[in-house]
Amino acid sequence: MHDLNADLHCHSTVSDGTLSPSQLAERAKSNGVALWALTDHDEVAGQREAAAAAHAAGLDYLCGVEISVTFADQTVHVVGLGVDPDNGALREGLAHTRGGRNRRARAIGDALAAVGIAGAYEGAEALADSPDMVTRTHFARWLVSTGVCRDSHDVFRNYLTEGKPGYVAQEWATLRDAVRWIRDAGGLAVIAHPARYKFSANEEWALFEEFRAHGGRGVEVLTSAHTPADAARYADTAREYGLLASRGSDFHAPGESRVELGALPALPSGLTPVWSELQQRILRG
Ligand code: AMP
Ligand code: MN
Ligand code: MN
Ligand code: MN
Repeated sequence: MHDLNADLHCHSTVSDGTLSPSQLAERAKSNGVALWALTDHDEVAGQREAAAAAHAAGLDYLCGVEISVTFADQTVHVVGLGVDPDNGALREGLAHTRGGRNRRARAIGDALAAVGIAGAYEGAEALADSPDMVTRTHFARWLVSTGVCRDSHDVFRNYLTEGKPGYVAQEWATLRDAVRWIRDAGGLAVIAHPARYKFSANEEWALFEEFRAHGGRGVEVLTSAHTPADAARYADTAREYGLLASRGSDFHAPGESRVELGALPALPSGLTPVWSELQQRILRG
């Protein structure tokens, strides 16, 4: 159970990945994944296809989502695992969260135009599944493909992060609502890639305290953004707060993502994996 090759965080063309849910299922299977979850940003439209493709590949599957949250003026991502993608509260909450994306994407386009980069909104939108799902990743791909930037690291460092010319702040869901939607849909809420946030010690403490108070249950210990030191640190956090440990590559695209689907190390010992509490929610392959 502890050493299961679970990959519980990745993205398809439904959000900012470049592979379809079916292509991801096949890739997960051939990479030796035993339990998989597709977790698109603020959208569950890929879940039916993912679950069917996982079943066809003989892969155990958990329906998933990654919800964008604003906490202490920063964006935090909350992964929901084992959710019912047809749940009304979840669907309405996600639709509301997606609502401001197009306006923000146009504002990013305007901000980039103001520094001499024309056509970015149209370029990013053409790469996205729908105008309501234009993410910074789509802007990054467009800026790289047009030669404005060398790679996505270059894009985020110079254009799309706070203080840079193409950054546009966005008010996402509250932590309380995101956890509630996930729980209402029968799922388990997990704080995604905690090492990526730039919180003070007090703010991080508040994040985990409030998360737990709202019924949040897990934390990603292993994910592509974490160094071995980060993993050790959040393994301690999991033990300290009594949180379940999750593991997910956050795979987006071949050649772009640093960690391949299913290619993370095993969870550190002494942790309880999230999947131990999700057995009833697993769709058996
Ligand atoms: P958005 O939800 O539109 O703000 O876009 C967030 C997405 O941008 C994340 O889910 C990542 O896929 C991507 N992203 C954010 N920061 C970086 C970064 N520093 N390097 C590469 N991709 C990033
Ligand atoms: Mn993403
Ligand atoms: Mn994320
Ligand atoms: Mn992600």
